[in-house]
Amino acid sequence: MIPAAAGHADQQDQVGRGPLPQSLLPDSATVDSSGHCRIAGVDLLHLARQFGTPLFVYDEAHVRNRCREALTAWGDGVAYASKAFLSKAMASVALQEGMCLDVASGGELAVALAAGAPPDRLVLHGNNKLPDELEAAVRMGVRYVVVDSFEEIDRLELLAKQHRTTVRVLVRVTPGVEAHTHAYTSTGQVDSKFGFGLESGRAAAAVDRIARSPALDLVGIHGHIGSQVFRTDAFERAVQVLAGFFLPLDLPELCIGGGLGVAYVEGETAPTITEWASSVKAAAAAAGIGPHVRLTAEPGRAVVAAAAVTLYTVGVVKQLPHVRTYVAVDGGMSDNPRPVLYGSGYEAFLPRATTADRDMVVRIVGRHCESGDVIVHNAAVPSSLEPGDVLATPVTGAYGYSMASTYNRVPRPAVVFVSPEGEPRVVLRRETAQDLMSLEC
Ligand SMILES: *Cc1c(COP(=O)(O)O)cnc(C)c1O
Repeated sequence: MIPAAAGHADQQDQVGRGPLPQSLLPDSATVDSSGHCRIAGVDLLHLARQFGTPLFVYDEAHVRNRCREALTAWGDGVAYASKAFLSKAMASVALQEGMCLDVASGGELAVALAAGAPPDRLVLHGNNKLPDELEAAVRMGVRYVVVDSFEEIDRLELLAKQHRTTVRVLVRVTPGVEAHTHAYTSTGQVDSKFGFGLESGRAAAAVDRIARSPALDLVGIHGHIGSQVFRTDAFERAVQVLAGFFLPLDLPELCIGGGLGVAYVEGETAPTITEWASSVKAAAAAAGIGPHVRLTAEPGRAVVAAAAVTLYTVGVVKQLPHVRTYVAVDGGMSDNPRPVLYGSGYEAFLPRATTADRDMVVRIVGRHCESGDVIVHNAAVPSSLEPGDVLATPVTGAYGYSMASTYNRVPRPAVVFVSPEGEPRVVLRRETAQDLMSLEC
């Protein structure tokens, strides 16, 4: 049995509820006089007609607001964790708002560079970075490489010598702190594939090894405890533990990673980016970390999750008497694998009746060939729902598109950015059958 994440759908009641709380919609969402949901003034039903479904719709102003908040709260050096959602447009927005980008593969690096990212705003992550990824990072001179293993230290040292340069690095430490999140997204515990353990002495050995290398420049320490973490005390505890290791080293930078949780379902609340930063800064100060230390972070989900909604078209409604009602949409686990992976909960609503009571409980499923293909286990929806309706799931801006697959050879959806400044723009076009066939030899 996989431990359930906070906000598991089965914790929701089995009876209908009121309208979707406005707080789960993007910043620029409004409801027009006919009850339609608009984002940045654009009717979601119009977008569904124009671009088809499934469709990811991002509120660009929401993304920019969160980037700005992150920059104000953490200061220069705060990085957007691009794995949450990345496209050239997304990278550009984060860069324009002053963030750095955290990339964890050659693919993410390529997109960031294509968006015009200066290398000194790129941070390379990964527990098993490939030789060509390390080579590219050294050659272009990224801001820093977050080193994760002794093998990587050796490889970086060699590359630095070959390129007659020095490589700036952070050492990723696993602080041994419980993140109180899903086991699959906990990364700071002792038993982890990531980083160097504190207790085992591996972290100290890594720091020693780097300090002895003229090719490597140790800038700071990094610790990421996990993702979808709701409790600021988990981060505070991590800072306390990291401080004991960090302070004697007298280094300029401490990065506490990402992981700030977001509310996905009614009744959940999460700290804001500002609250998160204040609590971490207070904990750092209390632990004796002075203001000269650059204390920074790498939020991903908190920047983009609530910025987007996914639009689907309802195809089939199957009422099984005394069992449940299944509502099948034209997407599924291929565009949102989180419910299957982590048992994550979501809400749903009808953009044509945004403020309608959601007086019926249904199971929203996808079109893939397995029973596990569920998007919302117990979704409250208006009982007027019928085949042909556009159905929306909010808070799908993080780890949806970025984890999308082409399972069943279902092409990946398009992604549209909307902003008051102009027409809706497709930032990632819908995949086609030809795209899928293009790999065939
Ligand atoms: C995934 C990850 C992040 C971002 O996590 P979020 O939960 O999306 O904020 C930041 N840093 C590292 C090292 C990560 O692996």
